[in-house]
Amino acid sequence: MGGGGGGGRGVWFGVAAGCAAAACVIAAALVSRRVRSHRRWQRAAELVAEFEEGCGTPVGRLKQVVDAMVVEMHAGLASDGGSKLKMLLTYVDSLPHGSEKGIYYALDLGGTNFRVLQVQLGGKGSNILKQKVEKQPIPQELMTSTCEKMFGFIASKLKQIVEEDEESREGTIETRALGFTFSFPVKQSSVSSGVLMKWTKGFSIEDAADRDIVACLQEALTKEGLNMQVAVLVNDTVGTLALGHYHDRDTVAAVIIGTGTNACYVERTDAIIKYQGLLTNSGSMVINMEWGNFWTSHLPRTSYDVELDEDSLNRTDQGFEKMISGMYLGEIARRVLFRIAVESEVFGDVGSKLSQPFALSTPLMATMHEDESADLREVKRIVEQTLQIPDIPLKTRRLVVKVCDIVSRRAARLVAAGIVGILKKIGRDGSGPSTSGRPKGQLMRTVVAVEGGLYEGYSMFRDYVDEAIVEILGDVAQNIFLKTTVDGSGTGAALLAAAHLSNRKSYI
Ligand code: ADP
Ligand code: MG
Repeated sequence: MGGGGGGGRGVWFGVAAGCAAAACVIAAALVSRRVRSHRRWQRAAELVAEFEEGCGTPVGRLKQVVDAMVVEMHAGLASDGGSKLKMLLTYVDSLPHGSEKGIYYALDLGGTNFRVLQVQLGGKGSNILKQKVEKQPIPQELMTSTCEKMFGFIASKLKQIVEEDEESREGTIETRALGFTFSFPVKQSSVSSGVLMKWTKGFSIEDAADRDIVACLQEALTKEGLNMQVAVLVNDTVGTLALGHYHDRDTVAAVIIGTGTNACYVERTDAIIKYQGLLTNSGSMVINMEWGNFWTSHLPRTSYDVELDEDSLNRTDQGFEKMISGMYLGEIARRVLFRIAVESEVFGDVGSKLSQPFALSTPLMATMHEDESADLREVKRIVEQTLQIPDIPLKTRRLVVKVCDIVSRRAARLVAAGIVGILKKIGRDGSGPSTSGRPKGQLMRTVVAVEGGLYEGYSMFRDYVDEAIVEILGDVAQNIFLKTTVDGSGTGAALLAAAHLSNRKSYI
């Protein structure tokens, strides 16, 4: 018994010892899992912190970007090729002023969609009476096809829309006038002709090189048997400025933040050094900056930006655009998240989706950023459905939001610096002597028209732009108003067609 008991004790001891050992193993496993988890998080947090630091835009740096913008604007106005900013002449020297009358059409081509607009103008004292917009996506395969195919497609859609429109109004117009908004860099030789300089935003139609874009469109319209005259060729920024000015005479510049980004503003002709002897009725001309190509070493550039550029169709081009516009913001965030996934495993086993370029669009990035639910349910849904990573914990969802925030905040603050750069160039930032005869500090009311899907659809982005303008300008920012126009790039082109044809005296 005793021995048995002893034996029994021994067994019990053995069992107890075995349990203790197992507990030790479990504890050790837990500890090592915690250590691993901690390390994973540490690496993930390190990568986010590094990214945030690389994207830093303290106000001092923003002011350097402002000054670099001014320097580059001067250089681009001094000579062709003098700067990465092309500072293109638009030949638009008068902006619509409200007395235009009649029915005009516009075609807006320049990114994800093309739009056909019909605008009915009532003449002096009345506003835009009616406006119709038809929006269609541009089939992907046409973006890299031939001029004939792309313009043929557009002309046939245009014809269809015009015919439907006239049928519903029961009236045709003898010679229809069209404002053509074409949002790629064009070297214009008049207000209604110009040669494409390069494609951007994923377009690449080789036989468009050196051809007059208006002639290409006009040819396609004639082939379709559509009696329509292309009266003006403008960039989307110029269209937006025109509509902004139509509604508010204090509008001096326009900025687009959509698939791409660009800006234009009203410049004095005597400041356009590269075009000696340029005379306009107004003494001014709208300059298309092509600011997407702006570059300065003061821009906060990270390894992700460098890699995005290396993998792009247009390497070393459009450096500013690649940090700012809708085509790229989601992609920058995806690159950061992918690196975190690979180096930290906080996303678990990641399938191939996160490694795919452009798998995360900017609108989805914005939706995640703006998710206000306590458990970040939208983030979970998008990560699951779009990136095919199931069930990420709340902590990881917060990390995703943080990455979106860093990408969007940097972009918005750089847009703000760009806008202040323009205002500084034209003496509306409160730093130079007042040109309006007012004492320094008392500034003119200044309006900048802003348009584009990214700006319109992403309220946190807009807030960051506003915040940064106030940080850079202080009290002067009280005189600066950013106004959003809707379909301004197209409507403005129709207004310009009207203004051009009625040939009234200029009102810039
Ligand atoms: P485009 O620049 O092609 O003329 P838009 O001005 O409509 O067209 O801009 C479309 C772009 O804006 C999309 O490519 C997308 O990147 C971005 N975008 C659209 N909606 C949103 C949104 N809600 N949040 C963030 N970005 C958006
Ligand atoms: Mg557009």
